[in-house]
Amino acid sequence: MSTPGWHGHAIKRTAALAGCTALVLSLTAATAQARPGHHPRDTARQTLPAGDGWASRGAGTTGGATAGAERVYTVSTWAGFRAALAAEGTAPRIIRVKGTVDAVSAGCEAFAAPGYDFDAYLEKYSPQNWGRDTDLSAEPDDSPEGLRRASAARQDQAIKANVPANTTIIGVGRGAGLGGVSLQIKDVDNVIVRNLTFESPVDCFPQWDPTDGDLGNWNSEYDSAVVHGSTHVWLDHNTFTDGEHPDSAAPAYFGLLYQQHDGQLDIVRGADHVTASWNVFTEHDKTILIGNSDSESTAAVDRGHLKATFHHNLFKGLVERAPRVRFGQVDVYNNHFVAGDDYAYSFGVGKESALVAEHNAFTLPDGVSPGKVLKRWNDSPLTAAHNRVNGRTTDLVAAHNAENPDVPLASGAGWTPTLRTKVLPSRSVVSAVDRGAGAGRLH
Ligand code: CA
Ligand code: CA
Repeated sequence: MSTPGWHGHAIKRTAALAGCTALVLSLTAATAQARPGHHPRDTARQTLPAGDGWASRGAGTTGGATAGAERVYTVSTWAGFRAALAAEGTAPRIIRVKGTVDAVSAGCEAFAAPGYDFDAYLEKYSPQNWGRDTDLSAEPDDSPEGLRRASAARQDQAIKANVPANTTIIGVGRGAGLGGVSLQIKDVDNVIVRNLTFESPVDCFPQWDPTDGDLGNWNSEYDSAVVHGSTHVWLDHNTFTDGEHPDSAAPAYFGLLYQQHDGQLDIVRGADHVTASWNVFTEHDKTILIGNSDSESTAAVDRGHLKATFHHNLFKGLVERAPRVRFGQVDVYNNHFVAGDDYAYSFGVGKESALVAEHNAFTLPDGVSPGKVLKRWNDSPLTAAHNRVNGRTTDLVAAHNAENPDVPLASGAGWTPTLRTKVLPSRSVVSAVDRGAGAGRLH
């Protein structure tokens, strides 16, 4: 095992298995083939180590670890991937992904509804012709917006994949990934996703909202992965990136970026007990949203949930939301944040959030001050300690407050994380994370 963090995992895993007879018995077939004295473990059958973040709470997260041979699928096409997900029942399943599986092979044109014409859309809804006072929700089905809606519905059908309970999805070796896919981990328990490169889905039909902000805005759907109302989810050693479709290459219409991406990983609607470890999140704008609304109807579902742990992830070249938090007790430790030119902020402090950010490392370019790391959307107190910025121990709350004296943040998240494995001192985080995080690094 190549990283200090991984070594910690292996030790914890052994302890967890020793205490769980049923799991040991059901793994016998897999481990019997192992060569003695060699680490035999089939990564597809690994489970979240005991005590490793919020996803280890209660029953823990085992995914499809105990799948019978008939429930192990190796797929290399989008159709094959979807068929494996659709196979009946919730008995444990393992889906091994070989190479890059692309959901959108035929291009955006394939989704366009008959009669849809983007030029007609731009013509009708331009600020000059339509103004900025009325949104497009009342537009009829045969209008440009109606045809956009119909086209978007076709893409929605085509690129979403629902993950059933008790599933492990894992890339085989290096170079495995999902392109243009929106993975829906929705209303299920016990899912593991590892060793995959997610290239962000591109929304072929962003919606113009004339009333969003002062200038209007282009809004897109499709997160690479969304955890929606689900529990016990472990995302480990994945890479999330805009890849071949960076925002920097996107055009502008009506003077605004034609944004074709939504989130990389969103955790919403009462989702709970998520651990994200050793992932790379890179080249993206709205990276991770935890809780998607301040509204009271959403609060009723989210309050007391949205508990997530992020450790040993690399957050590099992002704009914002790494993560943006509402309601949840969220533990962010031992991550490396590397800001680029478009950097807005890392941690969004939202309504009733209880963020703990400790022992992280930040690499900020010249001209970006430590005061930008925190963004106050709400006055929820947080705990930020033992963080380093460009090699110097830095009080992130004090840095924020020095720059924003009118809207200060308060310290003290009101809880202390206990579900952590080995915690590195912040001075060791950069090398460990840069060497160990991301897809293709799971051995
Ligand atoms: Ca959106
Ligand atoms: Ca989203």
